[in-house]
Amino acid sequence: MSATPNTFSGATMSAEGMVFNGAVFQPVVEKCEGCNRVREFEGQRFCSAYPMPEAKWSLGNCNFSTHAKQTQAANVKVNPLKASKRAAKGR
Ligand code: SF4
Repeated sequence: MSATPNTFSGATMSAEGMVFNGAVFQPVVEKCEGCNRVREFEGQRFCSAYPMPEAKWSLGNCNFSTHAKQTQAANVKVNPLKASKRAAKGR
């Protein structure tokens, strides 16, 4: 977690969202509630790990979240040998 900024100091607000380190950040979504990476800036809340939380969650559970279970990794048992064969075949 060392790369996670504690504040968005130096950020500015634009019409597109908050601009920080050259990236435009969108506000966090409901599913981010409880995540330790949420930071507040000028009354809005943003993610310190990912600029577009909504897009992140649209692909499944956010893999940066500190509060949501990583169900995919935890529940799916993968046979490493079969997985590598599948990967080699490009599937
Ligand atoms: S790490 Fe994921 S869950 Fe946490 S605030 Fe960012 S987008 Fe939301």
